[in-house]
Amino acid sequence: MPTPTLLTPPATTPKKSSYDVVIVGGAMLGSSVAWFLSDTPDFKGSVLVVERDPTYQFSATAHTNSCMRQQFSAEINVRISQFAADFVKNFQRYMGNDPRVPQPMLQSFGYLYLADTQGFAETLRTAQKVQAACGAGTRHMSRDEIAAAYPFYRLDDIVAGNHNLIDEGYFDGGTLFDWWKRLARERGVEYCANEVVAMTRNASGTRVESVTLKSGEIISCGTVVNASGPRAILTSRMAGIEIPIEPRKRFTFIFAAQNRLDRDLPLTIDPSGVHMRTDGLYYMAGCPPEVDPAVDAMDFAMDHAIWEEKVWPAIANRIPQFEAIKLINSWAGHYDFNVLDQNAILGPHSKVANFMFVNGFSGHGFQQAPAMGRGLAELITYGRFRTLDLTPFGFARIERNEPFLERAVI
Ligand SMILES: Cc1cc2nc3c(=O)[nH]c(=O)nc-3n(C[C@H](O)[C@H](O)[C@H](O)COP(=O)(O)OP(=O)(O)OC[C@H]3O[C@@H](n4cnc5c(N)ncnc54)[C@H](O)[C@@H]3O)c2cc1C
Repeated sequence: MPTPTLLTPPATTPKKSSYDVVIVGGAMLGSSVAWFLSDTPDFKGSVLVVERDPTYQFSATAHTNSCMRQQFSAEINVRISQFAADFVKNFQRYMGNDPRVPQPMLQSFGYLYLADTQGFAETLRTAQKVQAACGAGTRHMSRDEIAAAYPFYRLDDIVAGNHNLIDEGYFDGGTLFDWWKRLARERGVEYCANEVVAMTRNASGTRVESVTLKSGEIISCGTVVNASGPRAILTSRMAGIEIPIEPRKRFTFIFAAQNRLDRDLPLTIDPSGVHMRTDGLYYMAGCPPEVDPAVDAMDFAMDHAIWEEKVWPAIANRIPQFEAIKLINSWAGHYDFNVLDQNAILGPHSKVANFMFVNGFSGHGFQQAPAMGRGLAELITYGRFRTLDLTPFGFARIERNEPFLERAVI
């Protein structure tokens, strides 16, 4: 039988009727969990990944901007991104020195948070201390220092900023995703092009015993992992569980400048809420909509007024050279938005003990995929975290309605 590769489409019917782990959703997070399980020598179980859209065209993964930053305010989020950077930089080693595995790009143009009030400047100063204590290279910069490093900004209203040129910027997360999927399959993880449409719990409601596929098969499971991205709540409800996660639209715009900047544009988080950065020969910008409701996970309609009315005015104000630009491309994608605190939910449900979350990343899931996939693989294999302690992301805080405090949310 040929070794399955990316070029072999997954079957629609699973080979077996029972798996130790069933992962619902096989995009970035589902494939990270699958690969880390396959890379854990003590994990001896079988894994089925069910993916309703094997082209991934409707996933958050296909609409990402694929950036990473060390600039979080919570130490654990900084540590998670440090692991992401290490994972990307040593990708071939992590993938067992497989000679087929390429080296993904990490382009560290840095994020530049701009503060237009003393209050936000103070918040940045505090965050810089947390990041520096973890070994991150963040600098707190005065307006004059920013002007000297990046003369193209108009900074009249800016009082300070934070910037870091180490392990922060664009990374080729698509390569991680492709190789996680490919190598997990080669190691025996089964991907199945199908949809989980229902779950059956035991009589006391404490375990999911099986998942039902759209094609009718009933698959028994030891553990079920919700890796359904913006559809996370639909999957949770199949197990009778409510979570505060909803699909929220985020817009991305690619533009060309008549006169290109003479150096990389850091991923600049403007006080207007618009962000922009270098993107190869072009530039990329994005922002949340003014009114930000939950939408249908299949609603990809663009709001072109946002470009004309919000994004372009904001970027031309910050960089006068961007008054002469041309829109090249644009798209809408969905955050898996955690309404409580815009951070991940990871690990088991409190009552349905074999139902695991890896959800709610709200815009930083790509960079968190290595650490979260590894963490969930540890929980499934050993019943506890062995590397980074990811307990703060547990479901307990959702039940207590106590937000995880992270001030740097984009
Ligand atoms: C515009 C935009 C920009 C972003 N930029 C960044 C960034 O710069 N850096 C960063 O770290 N993160 C970023 N993110 C966030 C990041 O892309 C997401 O957090 C991440 O891709 C989520 O991956 P996922 O696998 O959890 O979800 P998804 O990619 O949505 O995958 C979920 C999968 O589950 C499948 N599925 C759902 N329900 C079922 C079911 N019942 N049965 C079978 N399959 C099912 C879906 O088909 C889908 O393929 C951005 C997101 C967006 C939208």
